[in-house]
Amino acid sequence: MTATATLAKPEPATTGFDPEALRADFPALHQEIHGHPLTFLDNAASSQRPNAVIDEIARFDRNDYANIHRGVHELSQRATKAYEGARDKIRQYINARDRKEIIFVRGTTEAINLVASSFVRPSLNLGDEIALTTMEHHSNIVPWQMACRERGAVVRVAPINDRGELELEELEKLLTPRTKLLTLVHVSNALGTINPVKEIVAMAHERGIPVLLDGAQAIPHMRVDMQDLDCDFYAFSSHKMFGPTGVGVLYGKKELLEAMAPYQGGGDMISVVTFEKTFYAGLPAKFEAGTPNITGGVGLGAAIDYLEQLDWDGAVAHENELLRYGTERLSEIPEVRLIGTANRKASVLSFVVDGVHPHDIGTILDREGVAVRAGHHCAQPVMQRFSVPATTRASLAFYNTKEDVDALIRALRKTIEVFK
Ligand code: PMP
Repeated sequence: MTATATLAKPEPATTGFDPEALRADFPALHQEIHGHPLTFLDNAASSQRPNAVIDEIARFDRNDYANIHRGVHELSQRATKAYEGARDKIRQYINARDRKEIIFVRGTTEAINLVASSFVRPSLNLGDEIALTTMEHHSNIVPWQMACRERGAVVRVAPINDRGELELEELEKLLTPRTKLLTLVHVSNALGTINPVKEIVAMAHERGIPVLLDGAQAIPHMRVDMQDLDCDFYAFSSHKMFGPTGVGVLYGKKELLEAMAPYQGGGDMISVVTFEKTFYAGLPAKFEAGTPNITGGVGLGAAIDYLEQLDWDGAVAHENELLRYGTERLSEIPEVRLIGTANRKASVLSFVVDGVHPHDIGTILDREGVAVRAGHHCAQPVMQRFSVPATTRASLAFYNTKEDVDALIRALRKTIEVFK
């Protein structure tokens, strides 16, 4: 079967963007796996880190590391400056209005759970509704099911079409006076679909419904602007945007965060504690109980520095071209069926092969040095929608090349031969 994914805005190839030069920044890409040069196409799970991040983490840990915020000594002050400096960089990078709107968390999952616990749960009543979509990651489904089960509320799900695009009219119908929150993925990890989130936010706001965007897969592929999107919350993870694991961000509008009760209690999130009464700290500390991932935050700051100097127009054009090329090459293989052929897509190629289980494909591709992911991608409802148990997913970043796509195709053809 052939696929027909086309890009919404094919952008002209730019001359200035040089993926080969960028690859030199990422040491993990330069190694052999099972006797083959590594072809790393598992970026949607976790992207690789540039030397700038790896080196800054080592430098910080060697010279400036100490616990933050309360220390009067020099090291603690240096560490605080680096950690809080990272918060400023993130604010600027995503164009949030105020550094208080940047809450450090463990990652997207924790960010969503924070909103579920502190924003939605306290005012969720019997018969209320949370609207989301078929293409959500489990981390944007399960917290809502948990909250709804506890409060007698209901999760409502907007359908997607056969290309993996949101059915906007159906989504609109879900938005009623009972809807407490609309929460959806900006870019789908399983399908690559880019949702028209700005329009969707406006549609929800017209009805007075707040919106949470899961930005985990958007932020590695594009610049995002909180003031432009006007969403109420935005969640993302450092490890998918060329930074370290164990840290991520919840962006929230200040007036909403200010009105919310803390997510967890503990050190750092208080101003005064007595056994009679405790006064909480202001934002952002109110939501950051306990010692955070200090080095992780600093590493994320270094990733932001790296991304700030990237030629984003060039990177987007390059990834679009890789997506076009990859879609075309995969479509030439009769046994391959692409899952996710949206008009607006990020560089994610999810596919099934007649007669071969994705896990077998993943394993054989690995023997050829090609790293992809096989499984349900923590999006089982997407698999159910397309009636497949799993897919093989090649997910690309700006440092991938056409040679990487060629290596995938070569290894895939070999795999299909094995199973013939
Ligand atoms: N949402 C999406 C769309 C994702 O791709 C992922 C990670 N695969 C998550 C949420 C969860 O991110 P994390 O595991 O970093 O919390």
